[in-house]
Amino acid sequence: MINNEREQIAFANLSWRPCDIANEINYHLLMLDVDQRLRDHGLKVTAPRVSVLDVLRQATGHLNADEVHARLGMAGLEIGRATVYRVLAQLEQVGLVQRSVLEAGRSVFEISRGPRHDHLVCTRCARVIDFSDAEIEARRIEAAGSKGFVVVDHRLVLLGHCAACRAVTGSV
Ligand SMILES: [Zn+2]
Ligand SMILES: [Zn+2]
Repeated sequence: MINNEREQIAFANLSWRPCDIANEINYHLLMLDVDQRLRDHGLKVTAPRVSVLDVLRQATGHLNADEVHARLGMAGLEIGRATVYRVLAQLEQVGLVQRSVLEAGRSVFEISRGPRHDHLVCTRCARVIDFSDAEIEARRIEAAGSKGFVVVDHRLVLLGHCAACRAVTGSV
């Protein structure tokens, strides 16, 4: 899947990157009232839940669980790693947070902004770009259905080179 060492290193350093501006505006609107959002989803308003959501909101992109934990620490919030993992799982369960597996054993989290979306991952700079395409989505469900398969979840990650990297190197 990843065919040279430099690309493997870039992939290993995968971290949060800003999504596009439209998404950013969108979830700032969505997250205006974090407390209310938690209550709407049947979760009590607790400091760890609000803090984790706040970190993800401010990240405007994708973070792994350790990065969420580190950012809480940087903000002076003493929340244990196990609690961060548990809170992320709870927030994912109620649909406030989307978890995406970009590679075996590597999940990233972000604030949910409507239906699930897929990811483009740049193997040069590790940028993660959101994308969604209703036609691809429908075709996948159809293709699975033709094998008698019911889709309950999906993930699609396309690896490649982002526009910014291509502009710098002038390559493919
Ligand atoms: Zn790139
Ligand atoms: Zn995403």
